[in-house]
Amino acid sequence: MKKIAVFPGSFDPITRGHENIIKRALPLFDQIIIAIGENQDKKSFFPLEKRIGFLNHVFKNEPGIVIAKYSGLTVEFCKKVDAGYILRGLRTSADFEFERSIGQVNKKLLPNIETVFFLTTPEFTAITSSVVRDIIRHGGDPSQFVPDGLIFS
Ligand code: ADP
Repeated sequence: MKKIAVFPGSFDPITRGHENIIKRALPLFDQIIIAIGENQDKKSFFPLEKRIGFLNHVFKNEPGIVIAKYSGLTVEFCKKVDAGYILRGLRTSADFEFERSIGQVNKKLLPNIETVFFLTTPEFTAITSSVVRDIIRHGGDPSQFVPDGLIFS
């Protein structure tokens, strides 16, 4: 059976932190589905199609990676795509508290799902999509925090 992991998130936009987690996780799975959750309550900075475009660009040479979008519960999406694993990154203890709750609830909702956590590599701990958005909003250069080759204008 193929080992499929879903990496859910907003990716608004993808950062070097996300990219690092995905590349480190690749050897563990046959396929990683990077899944952008459409959240009705949360207005995104970049439109969905743009965020998908960034992800397609970054992983265009990675056959093990699929880009997708979903709405509704992450576990329902996992069932639909036959994924046995959810991938998440941990930067800080605050991430841990947040992720613990979601991971435990997801396990109740779908008992055969396992959430796999990757600890952030130290140099990526401070990178968040929201910091990148602030830099862009104020006309700064975010290139050291995002994967190579992304064009934001
Ligand atoms: P969400 O809206 O679910 O928080 P994000 O796109 O912000 O989605 O993050 C998706 C996943 O990537 C989360 O597990 C988050 O902890 C992880 N992540 C975000 N930034 C980093 C980083 N700099 N290093 C490692 N993991 C990260």
